[in-house]
Parts: sequence; structure tokens; C-alpha cells
Amino acid sequence: MNPIDKLKTLLSRLPGLGEKSGMRVALAIINAGPDFATVLAKAITDTSAIHRCEVCCDLTDELRCSICSDARREPTICVVANPQDRMAFERAAVFRGRYHILHGVLDPLSGVGPFELTLRELLERARSGDVLEIIVATPATVEGDATALYLAHLLRDVDVRVTRIATGVAVGGEIEHADMSTLSRAIEDRRVL
Ligand SMILES: [Zn+2]
Repeated sequence: MNPIDKLKTLLSRLPGLGEKSGMRVALAIINAGPDFATVLAKAITDTSAIHRCEVCCDLTDELRCSICSDARREPTICVVANPQDRMAFERAAVFRGRYHILHGVLDPLSGVGPFELTLRELLERARSGDVLEIIVATPATVEGDATALYLAHLLRDVDVRVTRIATGVAVGGEIEHADMSTLSRAIEDRRVL
């Protein structure tokens, strides 16, 4: 396979890129010149150093991510489905606590059960005694709601307040694209699970 087809085929596997878009991106990389291609290749190679933070399970190139290493963060954990949702809350600067990344939501039809999520790590943090409240910020979808209920059940015997962000605010799992006031309201109007 020639280098252009090889690059196109690899790019086509990425979410949102089919054959045509894969080719468009491949040509854009080629047209940007060899220096750009070298820097891009290096940036991609460097991602092999990325792994899960030992505390919150977010993606980081250190043992603990910068948020978990920040002693000024409040003892409240905002549980999100994925790193993009954590980034949305951080971007909006509406929350000064810590996070826990589940890496998905319960979705039995797609083969995602409790063991596929980072629940063991969350339970461990909840039991540590360092946490006052756990705010479940999974998306307002059937799967997100089911995950929130599962978490409430899982944490029922732990001495920690478990709340859910206001549903109907970030509708349809759009936390990633929600604006600052929406996310702020979602946190403020949270209710006990
Ligand atoms: Zn972390």
C-alpha cells in the first residue's frame, strides 16, 4: 500500500472520519509539509506515555494528574463519564472539587457492565474518609441515569452525601458541549440521590 493510502486507511478508523474525510485529512497533512508531518508523528508517539491517574482515572502522563495533586481542591468528587466531560467542567470553572472518570456509563446492550467502569477505584476513594460529597454528573440519558442510580446503590453504606446534577439541564448527554451557565446551574440545582 502506498503511504497516502496507508495514512488514509488509518485516519478513516478515527471517530467521525470515513474514507472521504480520511483522505481529506491525509492530503492536508501532506500539503502542510514534512516538518508538520514530523511534529504530528512525534505528538502521536508521545501519547504512548499517557495512562490513567492512579486516583481519579483521568488520562495523564504522570502518576497523579494535576487536579489530584492540587491540595487546594475541595473534598467533593464530581463523577463524570469521560475526560471530555471533566474538561467541560474545568473550562467552565464552576467546580472547585475533584473528579472521578468512569470511562463510560452502564450500557448492557453494548457490553458495558460495572466491571468495565472505574467503580472499584471510586468506592475506595469514597471509603477513605476524605470525601464529603459525591456529585454524579453522568449524562441525562437512559444509560447515564441508570449509572447514577447504580452509584447511589453502590455507595449506600458509605458515609458520604451522594447527589446528582440537575437533569434536564444538560440534556441528552451533552455535558461536553454545555456552556458555563448550564453547567453552573446543573451543579447548583443538584439533588440528593
Ligand atoms: Zn487524577
